[in-house]
Amino acid sequence: MKSENVFAGIKQRLDKVSDFMNLSENEVALLLKHEKVSRSILDVDGKKYPAWRIIHSNALGPGKGGIRFHEGVSEDEVKSLSFWMSLKTSLLGLPLGGGKGGVKFNPKEVYEDELQKISRAYIRAFVDVVGVDKDIPAPDVYTNSQIMAWMLDEYEKIKGVKEPGMITGKPLELGGIKLRGDATSKGGLIVLNEFLEVVGKDIDEIRVAIQGFGNAGSHIASMLSSEGFKIVAVSDSRGGVFDDSGLDIAEIINLKKERKTVQDYQSNKISNSELLELNVDILVLAALENQITSENVDEVRAKYILELANGPVSADADEVLFKKGIVVIPDILANAGGVVVSYFEWSQNKVGNILEEEFLKGKLDEMMKNAFHRVYELYQENKDKLSMREAAYVIALKRILEAEKVRGRL
Ligand code: NAD
Repeated sequence: MKSENVFAGIKQRLDKVSDFMNLSENEVALLLKHEKVSRSILDVDGKKYPAWRIIHSNALGPGKGGIRFHEGVSEDEVKSLSFWMSLKTSLLGLPLGGGKGGVKFNPKEVYEDELQKISRAYIRAFVDVVGVDKDIPAPDVYTNSQIMAWMLDEYEKIKGVKEPGMITGKPLELGGIKLRGDATSKGGLIVLNEFLEVVGKDIDEIRVAIQGFGNAGSHIASMLSSEGFKIVAVSDSRGGVFDDSGLDIAEIINLKKERKTVQDYQSNKISNSELLELNVDILVLAALENQITSENVDEVRAKYILELANGPVSADADEVLFKKGIVVIPDILANAGGVVVSYFEWSQNKVGNILEEEFLKGKLDEMMKNAFHRVYELYQENKDKLSMREAAYVIALKRILEAEKVRGRL
């Protein structure tokens, strides 16, 4: 499936969940509508870059969500990602809505000075849309803390104020927090451990394959490996490696630091599609959307799927996995650690205080566990009707709709 179809998949999922929730036509229409769609063509040294910033919902608070730099970025993709952000912030009980941004280009083909110019041009284009109480960007695929720093600097230069809370995932020097770097994976690990406990699985029996070795994928690989899980396969955009006796994750991380690829590791080489079809206990998806679709879902043999990426399983594939009894721990729950810690960063910046790292770690742990148990309970109560994803959607959508109602917008 192509990225152009991602939002169609969201509509398909919403149909099923709205039947279960008995939603009215008005409610469904409101959920499918984006609050604000902003588009621009960035002009950097004569080169043109299509760019978007989209808020799906601001019923619960200002928009919140990352900015993606990728050649596959499209309006459909940004709309889908902003929809999932609304659900994620809602599910985790945050006072935030959902937004997302993106620029369509291949960041691997530009030098650092051009990357800085594109980042600054993005803020110039959307300076009136983003802001600490409007819509707060963060890193996503191929963006990082350095890019957030350039963006903050450009924003503050134009506005003539200091407003560190207008963006999260910043360097520590500019009001970022240490916990943000690997927060998405930490949150995923907390949820996964809770899940394995309720299904009664021992860590030392578990074999894992991980697709994607960037921020989310490499951090979860290193966390799982130090907890004693056996990682038998990992991949990046160039392909993967496999070793049934377990990979040395620290060595692969070092290779990536030297700007090499996962396949420079001395082991059996496999393709990305082969990785998805391995007979493992847990498949961690940490790359892009639509990796498991109706085309390859029949070949998936993992018992459980942990979605650190947003939307890596298509709506059609979801149905097949559900029938096959393969449990998917869904994106809006599994990768919510990033936005929870972004929320800590944003609220610290707003108030101007600094909280202890150990306190924030404890808070992240508590919030992820609470969200997991609420989802798992609803899923268990309706096991024949709802997947874990659908249970998470029900909880998240309910809170958004309640906020819309008390605002008098429904
Ligand atoms: P990243 O840019 O750091 O890494 C992306 C990784 O995916 C890279 O290793 C790249 O080589 C790999 N990749 C790209 N195409 C691939 C393919 N076809 N097959 C295998 N690997 C491929 O990005 P990230 O921040 O780790 O984000 C990954 C996913 O996690 C995205 O869906 C993102 O939206 C989601 N996510 C990230 C965060 C975060 O805090 N970084 C938070 C929530 C969700």
